[in-house]
Amino acid sequence: MTPGQPVDLFRQRLGAVLDQRRATGLYRQCLTLESAQGPLIQLAGREYLNFCSNDYLGLAAHPRVVESLCRAARRYGVGSGASHLVCGHSAPHRELEQALAEFTGRQRALLFSSGYAANTGVLQALLQPGDTVLQDRLNHASLLDGGLHSGARFRRFPHNDCDALARRLAQAPGPALVAVDGVFSMDGDSAPLVELARVCRQRPAWLMVDDAHGFGVLGPTGAGSVEAAGLGEPEVPVLMATLGKALGTAGAFIAGSELLVEALIQSTRNYIYTTAMPPAVAAASLTALTLLREEAWRRDHLAALIGQFRRGAEALQLPLMDSGSAIQPLLVGDARAAVGISEALRQRGILVSAIRPPTVPADTSRLRITLSAAHTPAQLEQLLQTLADCWPHA
Ligand SMILES: *Cc1c(COP(=O)(O)O)cnc(C)c1O
Repeated sequence: MTPGQPVDLFRQRLGAVLDQRRATGLYRQCLTLESAQGPLIQLAGREYLNFCSNDYLGLAAHPRVVESLCRAARRYGVGSGASHLVCGHSAPHRELEQALAEFTGRQRALLFSSGYAANTGVLQALLQPGDTVLQDRLNHASLLDGGLHSGARFRRFPHNDCDALARRLAQAPGPALVAVDGVFSMDGDSAPLVELARVCRQRPAWLMVDDAHGFGVLGPTGAGSVEAAGLGEPEVPVLMATLGKALGTAGAFIAGSELLVEALIQSTRNYIYTTAMPPAVAAASLTALTLLREEAWRRDHLAALIGQFRRGAEALQLPLMDSGSAIQPLLVGDARAAVGISEALRQRGILVSAIRPPTVPADTSRLRITLSAAHTPAQLEQLLQTLADCWPHA
């Protein structure tokens, strides 16, 4: 640096961020896949057993889903060309919205390009200064961000603590909205929806459920956590789920009353000021939804794998968390230790991600193992045996 030359403060700051991330074991990098999503994936020319995808039903590369995408692309092209309200909304979008509304037992559904956009968009559209939004501490970042930026009073409550929620609700002035994950993305446990709905009804407050990890997996027909809890639109007026997890495609939707959806269309900035998802993705999602509904064996097989994993991990005395879902984290604590186990597994051909702060609270770093209906019991056995080899003191 020559004397008198001004210091580049952005350069300085960004460099410090990277140094700090490296020093604390929190540096993040992408993997680059050379194959489709599935139980076996290819990275840098080597095949790995994959236990970190959210493709819970094994639909992301299903031949019928792929074929729908290709067929729709030949008819509708690739880009949607505009936002939904200009001229980006096409027949596959409408059909998918109708099918999702019917499947979730709601009057309407509204598509978004991502779950992040849906959550932040809906909270910003629904809430105003003077309102209160209450969220579980462990909610997904997109719900928290939406609440924080909504202009409403933002309060967190301790994880799954309905009594604490009731106390905070009693003190909250103005209209109140409670938002929770149906299945918590880094812990795999479920929200106590029946009890939450009861607390909300007393106030009354609206309950919003983000069911990114329950939709397609839980409930008698696979409609998710809210169906599993036996609740409907009156108890859960705002239901959100993503298409990029169990459905294996991309995007998200909000399902609710005619009133809710029409109001959201008028005022949700994340819906209005963004290009619609490609029509072919909507067509592929519709086919994935049909498979999800026709092939209940996928959910049954996944449930069997979850049981197999938990029995096996318990026998190995691995630190299981309280999860009955396809997300089966093993608690490690220290971020570098979690990364170390993840790397040891990777050397043995198994991919499991280490989840570290700020995604999870300090000293609760973990391995996040996700199971899919596409896994075989033998692949799961291989994971368990390799975990036994790699786990310190196991
Ligand atoms: C993945 C996820 C989202 C975000 O959905 P995207 O479509 O990936 O943007 C929102 N909420 C939860 C709970 C999630 O797990």
